[in-house]
Amino acid sequence: MIHLENVSKIYRTGRGEVRALDAVDLQVESGELVVVRGPSGSGKTTLLLTIGGMLRPTTGRVRFDGADLYSLNERARTRFRAENIGFVFQMFHLLPYLNTIDNVLLAAGAQGRRAGKSEAQEILDRLGLSERGHHKPSQLSAGEKQRTAIARALLNQPKLILADEPTGNLDPENASEVIGDLVEFRHRGGTVIVVTHGTVADQYADRVIYLREGRCLAAGES
Ligand code: ADP
Ligand code: MG
Repeated sequence: MIHLENVSKIYRTGRGEVRALDAVDLQVESGELVVVRGPSGSGKTTLLLTIGGMLRPTTGRVRFDGADLYSLNERARTRFRAENIGFVFQMFHLLPYLNTIDNVLLAAGAQGRRAGKSEAQEILDRLGLSERGHHKPSQLSAGEKQRTAIARALLNQPKLILADEPTGNLDPENASEVIGDLVEFRHRGGTVIVVTHGTVADQYADRVIYLREGRCLAAGES
């Protein structure tokens, strides 16, 4: 499903160059749940953004179901992303002035699609957040915020969810719930790539990959 060939990313800054990804070859099959680990600065976020079509690699190719992501023009890539990929971040990224349902519905706007509140409510029901639809983020626990962000990622029925330290700000119990949501998505046929330091996800993972200084090591190579 996802195929990275010799992907490198060099950031150029005033203080020189940073090689954030260094000749990464990676293949992820449809239906896999892959855990990504590595020390801070090892390139995990850069890897996810690159896979998600949000950051053009300096060299190499990213293919998604055969499509060469970065040979698409900006507009086509944005559309491809909205139709196929859901993102979940460490900091939730909910809009404070919208309630839970409207935060979930933001994803439809991103795709230029109309979606009904009932569609959003259905997803919230599935995640056990039925009662939270009309709450603002300030009225939600950290766990509920992150699960709202997951509901938003699910709205467009993506094939792939990319989650960047989604449990980084959560206590162990909420972290398990969030990982549980991702596992549920995988059971329904989805593919998940999740950066997480915790070990909750390991028991469900098909693979754990390690990044070190931009290089990708398979399990056992670390
Ligand atoms: P991780 O998510 O594993 O902490 P990142 O992918 O965020 O790692 O960063 C990898 C390396 O690239 C780090 O050295 C980081 O400082 C650098 N980096 C990340 N983003 C940028 C950027 N926009 N500009 C310059 N350097 C960056
Ligand atoms: Mg990061």
